[in-house]
Amino acid sequence: MTAAPTTDGVLVDRYGRVARDLRVSLTDKCNLRCTYCMPAEGLPWLAGPQLLADAEIVRLVRVAVERLGVTEVRFTGGEPLIRPGLVGVVGAVASLTPRPRISLTTNGIGLHRLAPALRTAGLDRVNVSLDTLDRARFTTLTRRDRLADVLAGLAGAAAAGLTPVKINSVLMRGVNDDEAPALLRFALNHGYELRFIEQMPLDAQHGWDRTTMVTADEILGALGQEFDLTPDPAERGGAPAETWLVDGGPARVGVIATVTRPFCGDCDRTRLTADGQVRNCLFATEESDLRGALRAGADDAELARRWQAAMRVKRAGHGIDDPSFLQPTRPMSAIGG
Ligand code: SF4
Repeated sequence: MTAAPTTDGVLVDRYGRVARDLRVSLTDKCNLRCTYCMPAEGLPWLAGPQLLADAEIVRLVRVAVERLGVTEVRFTGGEPLIRPGLVGVVGAVASLTPRPRISLTTNGIGLHRLAPALRTAGLDRVNVSLDTLDRARFTTLTRRDRLADVLAGLAGAAAAGLTPVKINSVLMRGVNDDEAPALLRFALNHGYELRFIEQMPLDAQHGWDRTTMVTADEILGALGQEFDLTPDPAERGGAPAETWLVDGGPARVGVIATVTRPFCGDCDRTRLTADGQVRNCLFATEESDLRGALRAGADDAELARRWQAAMRVKRAGHGIDDPSFLQPTRPMSAIGG
């Protein structure tokens, strides 16, 4: 019988998966209104006092890095670039020992302006969301005419050395699913790494429909019309993206097939929301409150213990295919990628 993994200093769940990759949502607000994410009028945003202050975020990340074995920190949102104290938070996390790898998921708006300061503060790399190269289609999809800003953000990130610059693209049937080859060609021409993401049931409107989701097989089929894709020999580990070499490599393309090719068995992620809740899974329907304990004076050991307890009960997977599947009440815009 294998000995139960020690829980000292790690975030381990009942299946033995160890979380080392912390996703931190810095805000639930966003400056875009993507149709597959939220309604045009936005959402009832978290109120100021509910939000963790910069120092509280840094403290919880420090606990995760110093006491719980977290080695990767990804800042997300909503849109993290609109958080006023972002550069300071990145700098504080970069000064932690051991130093975690720090990345950021963003819609790219304003990135061309902030990239140099974020790089200097210690940001290592970025993922930028881009679902279309067509200005009119971008404006329809996001309800904002900001494609030029996103493209400038990508170029600014590359120029600042926030590499590899990764692009996240969500394809929707009859909307932008004809753009898969063009998006890959664009990424190859600019040296960006492209990941297609299957649309997930995490929208605020609860309108997700499996039949309109473009599957990994369909994406690979469309790419295979123009590119020679071969399986990537590199070790995948807990990474969400399955990757292929394009035309013999070294360029790669990835697909994050959460729905049709789930990768929960190797999941190494833990999440902290902007209002201080631990989510042990993207699709968790329950959360554990750290903000309350922190503000009530809990010490680092207590915060670490509560975080471990939250992860221990993580479910085996997202259960999207289960008849009992329940979409989380918290939308993706308040969880982050
Ligand atoms: S759905 Fe949950 S368990 Fe599965 S990979 Fe995502 S976060 Fe991990």
